[in-house]
This record gives sequence, C-alpha cells and structure tokens, in this order.
Amino acid sequence: MKKRRMIAALLSAALVLGIAPAIPASRASRAFGAEGTGVQGDSGLLWLVNYGHSVSKDYAASDMRTAAGSSVKMRAAAASALESMVKDLKNTGLSIRLNSGYRSYATQTYLFNTRLAARQKTGMSYEAAYAATRKFTAVPGTSEHQLGLAIDLSTDGTLTAAFGNTAQGKWLSANCWRYGFILRYRDEKYSQTQIGEEPWHFRYVGKPHAQIMYEKDWCLEEYIDWLKENGHISLTAGDMVYDVYRTAGDTSGYRDVIDRSSDNSGGVIVTTYHPADPMAYIRGHWSESSFAMLFGEEVPAVFGVIDPDRSITRGEFAALYAQQMENGKLPAAAQSPGSAGFSDVPRTDPYYSGITAAAAAGIMGGNGGRFRPEGFLTREEAAVAAAKCVKDDELQYLDYGDLGSISGWAFQSVQKLALHGIMKGSDGNFRPGAKLTWGEAAALLRSLEEYVGSADGGLQI
Ligand SMILES: [Zn+2]
Repeated sequence: MKKRRMIAALLSAALVLGIAPAIPASRASRAFGAEGTGVQGDSGLLWLVNYGHSVSKDYAASDMRTAAGSSVKMRAAAASALESMVKDLKNTGLSIRLNSGYRSYATQTYLFNTRLAARQKTGMSYEAAYAATRKFTAVPGTSEHQLGLAIDLSTDGTLTAAFGNTAQGKWLSANCWRYGFILRYRDEKYSQTQIGEEPWHFRYVGKPHAQIMYEKDWCLEEYIDWLKENGHISLTAGDMVYDVYRTAGDTSGYRDVIDRSSDNSGGVIVTTYHPADPMAYIRGHWSESSFAMLFGEEVPAVFGVIDPDRSITRGEFAALYAQQMENGKLPAAAQSPGSAGFSDVPRTDPYYSGITAAAAAGIMGGNGGRFRPEGFLTREEAAVAAAKCVKDDELQYLDYGDLGSISGWAFQSVQKLALHGIMKGSDGNFRPGAKLTWGEAAALLRSLEEYVGSADGGLQI
C-alpha cells in the first residue's frame, strides 16, 4: 500500500515548473568544473547504464537535490543544468512539465512490473509483454533514472512519441546539448541502446560531452566505443579547448583535469580544459614582461598552455633553461659539466632533450640515476641551478626573516643571487622550501639573462 501511494504521488508530480532562479554562470573563469561536470569517481557523469551495463540496486547518488519549482530530484550538476535549460525554454514562450527525474531501484521495479502486468492482462504472453515493456521501460538496474542523471519532460504530463513533434520537443532536441544533456533514445540508435524512440528522455552527461555527441551524432554507447578505440577526442568551443581521454589505467599525469568519470565499462574518461591561446593566462599577470622577454609572442609548443601561478616541474624548468641556452641567452655552468641519461626520463618524455641538455651543461642533475622530471622545484633548488652560471664568488650578507630555513647546500647560491639582484625574496623572506611557480621561473631566468648579458656579467657564452 505504502509503495503504491508513493508511486501515485510520483506519477502525479508532473508540476508545471515556475521560473527558475538565475544560475550564476562562470564561463569567463577557469572554474568550468563548478559550472559543468566536476563530479569525480565511480559515480561519474559518463556512467554508462544500459541493457548490458547495470547499476547496483543499492546505488543512490549522494549529491541529489530537488530541481527548482518542481518535486523532481536529480544530481546537483544535472539539476542546475536542467533549471537553466527550462528557464531558456520558457523564455521562448513555451511551457514544459518535469515528469520524472531520480527513481530508486524499488520504484523502477514497481514501474516495470506494473506495466508488464498491464500488458499481460490484455492477453499478451509473458514473453511478448516483457519484450514490449522493456522497449520503453528500462529493466530495473539498467535505468538512467536511478543515476539521478535523467529527466523525462512533457507538455501535458504524458510521455508519448508525439512530444517529439511539439515545439518544446523540437527546441529541446536542438538545444539540450548546450546545457550538457543528450537526447538519449532515438530510433536510429536502437541497435546500440535497445530502447525505442523516447523524445521525452534527456540524459545529463555534462559539457563538453553533450556537444561532442551532438556534433558527431553519436549516442552514449557510440561515444564510449569511439574513445575505447581511439583514446582521445578534442573539442574547441569558443576560445577554450577540451581534451577527452579514455584510459583503463592510471589517471594521474593529466593536466588541467576538470572531470574524471568511470564509464561503467572498464575505463575512466578524463576531461581536461585549457584556453586555445597558450598566452591566455600570462596576459595581465605580473610576470608577463618576463615571459615576453623569454619567448617573444610565441610560447614553444612543448610547454602547452602556461599558467604562471602553477608550480613548475623539474623537467619543465630544465627544458625552459635549455631552450634559453639554445637561443644563446644562458650559458652552461661555470664549472663541472654534468652527466646525462636518467632512468626515469625516457626518450618519449616531451622534455627529454631539454633535461639532457640542462644536465650536460651542469645546471641540473639527478640523484641515483633518476631526475624526477615530474617533481616540483623548490625555490632554493632553483637558486642552486641559477647560481651555477654566476662565476663571481662574492657573497651577499643575507637578512631574510626565514634565513634559518635555507638549506646548507643552497646557502651560498642564495647569497650569490642576492648580491646580483637575480633572485630576491618577498616581504623580507626568501621562502626556500616553497615551490617555484612558472611566473617566478620566468622572472628568475630573465634576471639571470640580464646579469649574464650585462657588461660586468660573469660569463662569456
Ligand atoms: Zn526516462
């Protein structure tokens, strides 16, 4: 009885949605993850659930909420996107009803069994009734509604094929991708989905995936299959670039990740996001003039998009130094050429040649045959590398407040750089253990170049 009442309430809950409050957009910022996807882990937004890939009957997402002006529940990211989509649809003068969002396994079971029984009552055999039911009602455990990522929409509370020919159905079909939704079940994709045409059922996958599937005319199954086979797809949208990777293994090592989502078919889909313009984050930054002196107008492709506030890795710093050496702007070390060849720097490493050159020049070295290219460089480590090309042995008396935390092996290097104004601290401190940022690295190498190039600079290159 209780269950029956709950279902009745759910089915009659097809409220006309009021105007949703405006969702603050953050398109201009780097915080796309907060606006779009950003949900991590096994309950990711690209979770494939269909006849062949089920979800546990105990699964319920932990981040569900009720969509504004309705009683429909969805996961938070999907609910926000739905509210935006409904608001824009209504702004065209059309009305829409939200029929059904999240459904538990128990609800889906009840729904399926009720529809099955109704068909059997008309005299259909169990097999025929089952086949007819599952064409439009997912077998429990294979419904996207259980994920909290699907929404059924209608004009009058009924879910029929006619919805596809209404102005609302057409608008949604043409525009849902802009909000991160896909029209999930279409006749021409039946062989993939095993579900018939459902013009009312929209699945949230997040941008940019919805746009990719829309542009390629792929259903979710085809998208995942394509990624399985090719590993990567890229989408340029406006001045931003999305790179989508599918991996069966380790997902660390990707930069600028906005989303990691299991696909429920043995892989993880990693989505990254960066500006198409590699100078985008540098423009207007305090380090801009240093980068301009190092690179001119063009950032070498090997560095990709540089975020000047991001910590620089040892591999990146070595490559940056080597690149300036190659341009004749920075010298090899004053003493002791180093040895190259590191067990953790394969030839395929994008910074292989830079690391090899910087090591051969005695600027940076390894430890136990390893270079740690992915490791970050502390400010005092950077000071040691930079001081290698200061021939002058004079030292500066230091009065940094955190003087005591400068390591013994770095002390004289810090003194040398201070003497020539090549590397200074800020607010009276040197911050020896802090990670060097890209912006600081650019400023450091620029000062070093000015020192080296000046009349009384120590070295002949
Ligand atoms: Zn549905």
